[in-house]
Amino acid sequence: MSRLIAVDPIGCGCTECMAGGYVPLNRANAAHVAALLTGRLRNHTGATFQVSADYELEPGANLLTAAPPGAARHL
Ligand SMILES: [Zn+2]
Repeated sequence: MSRLIAVDPIGCGCTECMAGGYVPLNRANAAHVAALLTGRLRNHTGATFQVSADYELEPGANLLTAAPPGAARHL
C-alpha cells in the first residue's frame, strides 16, 4: 500500500486509488479533506475549494478573540 498523497475526482478507480496513493473524493474522510484544504494532500479533483466562517461579535469584542458560533474557545 502506498502512502496517501492526493485526492482524486469522485468515483475515480485509477491504479493509484486502488493502491492507496490517492483517494477518490467520495471516499475521503474528514482528515483527508482537511489535509486537502491545507495543501498536505494534492488536489486532483478538478474542483476549487473555498472555506468560509461566519462570526458574531459581542459589543466590545474583536476578531482576534472571536470564535465561530458553536466553536470551542481556546483562550
Ligand atoms: Zn484515482
